[in-house]
Amino acid sequence: MTDCIFCKIANGEIKTLKVYEDSLNFAFLDINPSSLGHTLIIPKKHYQKLEEMLEEEAKEMFSLVFKLAKIIPKIVGTSSCNIGINNGKLAGQEVPHLQFHIIPRFEGDKGSPIQGLVRMKVNKEELPTLAEKIKKEIKNPEIVREGEEVKTEDKKSKEPKKEEKPKVKETEERPAKSPEREWQEFNFEEQDKAPDFSEARRE
Ligand SMILES: [Zn+2]
Repeated sequence: MTDCIFCKIANGEIKTLKVYEDSLNFAFLDINPSSLGHTLIIPKKHYQKLEEMLEEEAKEMFSLVFKLAKIIPKIVGTSSCNIGINNGKLAGQEVPHLQFHIIPRFEGDKGSPIQGLVRMKVNKEELPTLAEKIKKEIKNPEIVREGEEVKTEDKKSKEPKKEEKPKVKETEERPAKSPEREWQEFNFEEQDKAPDFSEARRE
């Protein structure tokens, strides 16, 4: 999007204190930090919300968040941080371009836990039905957008596997989709309904 400030940051039009960049993601220090080390991780493609991403893109982004969350608190001298997304306008999203926040936490920083952000009154009797609905829906293969190729050249060239031989390196491709790992965690009661994304997309 041409008028999006985060698109301009991701393509270098607006200068920031960049901490990481690859072909898919860009990470930089927040210019109005909530705490020392407050870092934003954004996809280079313009997505407003997490669920708009392709599954493979989301995995790459989460992997970067994982790495940064490991090192940033240590670097600024603390053991804790909040990690989160204001996913949509009602959640407090100010810039309509998806952004992950890593906010290091310190003794006496006057912050609150993420679960303290919202104080909605919930009827607990509704919760078992709700849990069932979610359990059922998460088996629906159409909840993720996947299947398109994601460029990971930068990552591969920066992190070569030790066992890779140079001559086969270029031909080794990361599988375009690997839903099995995520879905294994769920107990599929009906084997014939185990997700086959390629089949589901054809139907
Ligand atoms: Zn944008």
